Amino acid sequence: MANTVGVVVTTKIVAGLIEGTQLAGGLREFPESIDDTNGLIEVPAESLCDIICDAVVALAPKDARLEAVGVAMPGYIHQGITLDSPNLPQLKGVPVCANIGAGLQRRGIDTRLSVFNDADAVAAGIAAIRGQMDRQVRVWTIGNGIGFGRFPWTEGPWEGGHMVVTLDPKENYCGCGGRGHLEGIMGHRAMRLRFLDMEPDEVFSAAKKGDRRCADFVELWHRALAAATASQIHLEGAGRFYYTGRDIQRLELPRLKEHLWEMIKMSPLQNYTVEILPEDPSLAVIGAGIAARIENKC
Ligand SMILES: [Zn+2]
Repeated sequence: MANTVGVVVTTKIVAGLIEGTQLAGGLREFPESIDDTNGLIEVPAESLCDIICDAVVALAPKDARLEAVGVAMPGYIHQGITLDSPNLPQLKGVPVCANIGAGLQRRGIDTRLSVFNDADAVAAGIAAIRGQMDRQVRVWTIGNGIGFGRFPWTEGPWEGGHMVVTLDPKENYCGCGGRGHLEGIMGHRAMRLRFLDMEPDEVFSAAKKGDRRCADFVELWHRALAAATASQIHLEGAGRFYYTGRDIQRLELPRLKEHLWEMIKMSPLQNYTVEILPEDPSLAVIGAGIAARIENKC
């Protein structure tokens, strides 16, 4: 059976060995003792690449060939280089493929390496687990940043989190510096900037208790996600959309559907489906490992 290792870099590094389409031996975090409060934001790019290589060494089977390694990380990755990554800015311009490839060789591992966007890896994981490898899968990941992923992999930046969803010039909270962006409304850092006196979880619970300012924001949050999804549908057509990620419990599907209904009126575009998937870090790990088998992205 084909063995691959999937490694996912978000606010921490999670990895696993994949046999076929299954995780063998569960997920592991690297390094084991990371300071949770700051995540990886203060870890230099070189050390990040080293941690990724150490994770692969720890997981690679000792008595079988490792077919491929798939690494997924946030940002716009093109030809093995992280062109930009607003949520892990130290990765900007880093030739991650070359660095990780060299690090693996130094550790005696000679295998095929691919590096993907983390949301694309989630889409590949969903396709694999749902038996939808022959279909188009699109996914929004709602966490620290807002990711947009698709399977099968397609050339392009696909920076869905930076879609413009409002023309209000005051909407300038996106980490990339752009105005009116989806992540500038839904992203964790953006919400902290908007509500200087409240954490995002407090905003959502205050909205439920009737706080007007928070309720208005939660409405904006849902409309923004619907707007980005509607724009995607108007560009690429209807189909299957999934929503997942660390903060997915904030999403109310009936509200999203209601806004989508208001935003998409052309009948050939109305046969879309939307589904929430509970946060599951193994989706991206499995997806990174499986996509690395199909694609050669380095
Ligand atoms: Zn942005």
